[in-house]
Amino acid sequence: MQEHVEELISSYIDGEVTDDERQLIESHLQNCNQCQVLMEEMVTMKNNVFLVYEFVEIPQSFEENVLAVIGADQTAKDTLRIKMSWFVFTFFIALTLIIVFALSPIGIFIVSLSSSVFSIMFSLLRVIPTLISSVPQLLVGISIFFVVLFVASTWFLRRLLFVQKVT
Ligand SMILES: [Zn+2]
Repeated sequence: MQEHVEELISSYIDGEVTDDERQLIESHLQNCNQCQVLMEEMVTMKNNVFLVYEFVEIPQSFEENVLAVIGADQTAKDTLRIKMSWFVFTFFIALTLIIVFALSPIGIFIVSLSSSVFSIMFSLLRVIPTLISSVPQLLVGISIFFVVLFVASTWFLRRLLFVQKVT
C-alpha cells in the first residue's frame, strides 16, 4: 500500500503537479477511498469558494460599482442632452427673432442706429486717451468723480436697505 497523497491533492486539483505526481495520485485514488473522499471534499470546498467569490464578491463590489458608474454616466448624459436641447432651442428662437427683426423696417432702423451709435462710441473711445494724455488733471478728476460716485451710491444703497428693513 502506497502512502496517502493528501498533501498533493490540493495541488492536483489546481493542476499544479508534475506528470509523475499526477500518475502517482491517480493510481493511489483508484485504490484509496480515504483520499478519494478527501479530494471530493476539497473540490467541493474550492467550488464553494469560487461560487462565493463569483456570487458575493463580484456582484456586490464590481458589478454594482460598474452599474453605479454607468448610472452616473447616464444621468450626466441626460443632463447634458437636456442642456444641449435647451441651448439648440434657445439658439433657433434667437436666430429666428434676429432674422425676422433684421428684415423688418424697425429692425433695419435699429441696426443702422446702433451701427451709427457704435461708430460714435468708437470715435469717442479713440478721442478719450488723447484727451487724458493731453490733460492729466482730467484723469485725476475722473478718478475722484468715480470714487465719490461709488461712495455716494454705497451710502445711498445702505440707507435704502436700512429703510426697507425698518418698514
Ligand atoms: Zn490515500
